[in-house]
Amino acid sequence: MRVTRSDRLAALPPYLFAEIDRKKRAAREAGRDIIDFGVGDPDQPTHAFIIACMQQAVTRPENHPYPLGGGSPGFRRAIAAFFQRRYAVDLDSNRELLALIGSKEGIGHLPLALVNPGQTVIVPSPGYPVYRASTIFAGGRPYTLELTEAGGWLPDFATIPAAVARDAVLMFLNYPNNPTAATATLAFYERAVEFARRHNILIAQDAAYNDLYLGHNPPPSILQVPGARDVAIEFHSASKTFNMTGWRIGFVAGNGEAIAALGSIKANLDSGVFAAIQEAACEAYANLDRPELSQMRELYRARARAFCDGLRKLGFRAAAPDATFYVWAGVPVGYDSMTVCNRLLDEADVVGVPGIGFGPTGEGYVRFALNVSVDRIQTAIERMAAIRW
Ligand SMILES: *Cc1c(COP(=O)(O)O)cnc(C)c1O
Repeated sequence: MRVTRSDRLAALPPYLFAEIDRKKRAAREAGRDIIDFGVGDPDQPTHAFIIACMQQAVTRPENHPYPLGGGSPGFRRAIAAFFQRRYAVDLDSNRELLALIGSKEGIGHLPLALVNPGQTVIVPSPGYPVYRASTIFAGGRPYTLELTEAGGWLPDFATIPAAVARDAVLMFLNYPNNPTAATATLAFYERAVEFARRHNILIAQDAAYNDLYLGHNPPPSILQVPGARDVAIEFHSASKTFNMTGWRIGFVAGNGEAIAALGSIKANLDSGVFAAIQEAACEAYANLDRPELSQMRELYRARARAFCDGLRKLGFRAAAPDATFYVWAGVPVGYDSMTVCNRLLDEADVVGVPGIGFGPTGEGYVRFALNVSVDRIQTAIERMAAIRW
């Protein structure tokens, strides 16, 4: 038979990382010693106190059936308590919270819940590719909101044409930002909420890195803006905060109607997060001030220092990130990001991600993920020093 392939798959933007992925695999198979700054996935194990909780939770029979839709009462209470402690925001744990099978799952399904075919969704660029893909899957029309270094990688809402603001129903934001590592202030979120309110647009702010901050000020939540819950939801993830990427748990908080709509989509697609994993996540979110977490931040700070110092000597522009585990480095003058990444791989066995793959305004930058030890970072810098730009 001829297997059909949907138009919505064909409508996805080209996958620009394919060539680098292929070369990386080939180099590994050829036995080359690759130093991989490509993947945004922690190299450290899940914190031991969370694993210990999971080991107990998995033995309890009440955790074995289909979990309750949207998260157990215990999970909802634990997350509401976390939100109160961390942001001084009181969430209604029944209406304003939903457990997710990782935040990517919720982001991926959100447009199916909120967007009709032909409606506009505002998508930042450079940005996490799932915002655009999920918009396309729902038949929505992505409008590219350009972020630039001059603007601190924060959007200027005044540049959005009136027709776009009128037609848009949803706008994605992501701070702390992947790939640029930019952070947002509460004043920025106030402007975003005001814009959304004026134009009747729901904001979906992706806070996957809110607890992976390396500076002294923990990033705010958009839900701290008075009235934000009228127009905003916020995605959170245990993945990066607790080295739990493989466990698949996150949550969304905020506007109750948007959360109910997403819950209806999910009720028809999945059957929730394994209750034992929810229990382990409660333990994780109850213990954000444990020393393991500050040690993890210290580890990323040391890596960021070592890598950025090295990169600058090699002609890149690189600032240590305030949050996230990414270094968003400006490439040496005269080169595009794809050429730079190809040469890093061919000549130094080092993998970075070309900025162009995150959108046109990502050109001129390479994203390096700091999931590599300081020793290996130093080796990478030594190898890169041999490249003549
Ligand atoms: C890693 C990441 C996510 C996804 O996290 P999960 O909770 O593991 O699905 C979401 N948004 C951004 C920007 C990310 O980098």
